[in-house]
Amino acid sequence: MNYTRSSALFAQAEKVIPGGVNSPVRAFKGVGGTPIFVKEAKGAYLYDEDGNRLIDYINSWGPMILGHAYKPVVDAVVEKAKKGTSFGMPTEIETQIAELAVSMVPNIDKIRFVNSGTEACMSAVRLARGFTKKDKIIKFAGCYHGHSDSFLIQAGSGASTFGTPNSPGVTQGTAKDTLLAVYNDIENVNQLIDANKNEIACVIIEPVAGNMGCVPPQNDFLAKLRLLCTEHNILLIFDEVMTGFRLAKGGAQELYNINADIVCFGKVIGGGLPVGAFAARNEIMNELAPLGPVYQAGTLSGNPLAMAAGLAMITELNNDAEVFNRLAEKTEYLHKGITNVLNENKVVHTINRVGSMISVHFDAAPVVDFKTAAKGNNETFKKFFHGLLNQGVYIAPSAFETWFITDALSFDDLDFTIDAVRKVSKTL
Ligand code: PLP
Repeated sequence: MNYTRSSALFAQAEKVIPGGVNSPVRAFKGVGGTPIFVKEAKGAYLYDEDGNRLIDYINSWGPMILGHAYKPVVDAVVEKAKKGTSFGMPTEIETQIAELAVSMVPNIDKIRFVNSGTEACMSAVRLARGFTKKDKIIKFAGCYHGHSDSFLIQAGSGASTFGTPNSPGVTQGTAKDTLLAVYNDIENVNQLIDANKNEIACVIIEPVAGNMGCVPPQNDFLAKLRLLCTEHNILLIFDEVMTGFRLAKGGAQELYNINADIVCFGKVIGGGLPVGAFAARNEIMNELAPLGPVYQAGTLSGNPLAMAAGLAMITELNNDAEVFNRLAEKTEYLHKGITNVLNENKVVHTINRVGSMISVHFDAAPVVDFKTAAKGNNETFKKFFHGLLNQGVYIAPSAFETWFITDALSFDDLDFTIDAVRKVSKTL
C-alpha cells in the first residue's frame, strides 16, 4: 500500500503539534513507521488520505461499537448542531441520557457527565476521597485510567509502549498516595490494605483490563476485591471506560454480577464525541457540588452535541437485545480463526478475549497481569502489525492495546482478516 500523502501530512503536523499527534499512541512509536491520516470512515472501514481502505479494529479506541458514521448517531448530532452547540445551561437531553444510563447500569442512582474518561476517573477518585475522608488509592499495574497525575504510575496503554510508565511532572507527593497492586493477585491487595490501615479511600480497577492487552479477571478476583473493599470501608471503583456499554448493557458489573461503588464511563457512552461520566448510588453522588462539598465542574460538560450522540448510541444498544451476543460471536469467530492460522504456522502466542475485546500476545505463558503482558515479543508484534497493515487490516499500533470489535464487521471481513493473519504468520 502507498502512504505517500499520510507521510507528507505527518511531516507537516510534526512542525506544529508535538510528535505530530494529539495523543501519543497514535504516533506509531511502539511499532515504527509513520501514522496513517484518516480522511473518512464508514461502517467497519477507514479510508485514508492515500485512498487505501482499512478494516478497522481500533474504532477510535472503542467508541464506534456499531461502526463508523452510524446513521442514527450522525443524524442526532446534525439535528442538534443546527440548534446551537453549547449553552452552559441545563438541557432536557442531559436528563434523558442520564435516565437511560441509570436504567441500563446496575446499582447506580445518579450519573454526572464530563468530557473524557480521564475526567471521569479523576473525578471519581476525588469523590471517593471526599466520601471516605481518606487519601490513598490502590491502582493496578498495567491499568490505565487516563492521564491525570494520580494514575500515571505503571499506567499501561501508550505509557507502557513508550517504556515510561511514570511521567515527569507527577510530583512525589501525588505518587505516594497511589499504591500499586498486581492485577489478579488478591493476596497482594490484602497486604497493601493491611500495611495502610484506614488510609485507603478506594481501589480503582479496569474490571476487564484493556490497557495491557486484554486481561480478564481470574478466579473470582473481582468478587474477592468486592469483599475486601466492603470489609475495610474502601470504595470499589470500576473504570468501565472501555467495558461500559460494551460487554453488556450494564457493562462488567452486569457480566460478572458484581456491584462497584462508583462506575466510570467514556468511549461508547459518547457515540464518538468527547464524553465521560461517573455514577454511583445517591449517598455517594450527593456529596458532589452543588449538593455536597466535593467540587467538580465543566464548561462543556453535558453539551447538547455530545449528549445527542451518546443518547442515540446507548438507545440503539438498549433497543437491540442481540447486539452483545452478536459482538461476542464475531469476536469468538475471529479468535478461533486466528488461533488456527497461528498454530498452523507454529507462531507462539496467547489470545485473551472477553466479549468484544480481544488481543494477541506473542508469548506462550498465560497473560494475567502487567508482568506477563510485558513478556510478549515486541519484535514479532511489530512485524504482525505492519504485515496486517500492508494487507488493509488496522490493529492498534501497540502490543498493550485491545482490539475493539464492531458490529459493522461482516463475517467476510473477519475471514479476510484471518486470511491476512495467515499470510503474515508465515513471515513471523
Ligand atoms: N480508562 C480506561 C480504561 C481507558 O481505556 C481510557 C482511555 O483509553 C481512559 C480511562 C481515559 O479516557 P480518555 O482517553 O477519554 O481520557
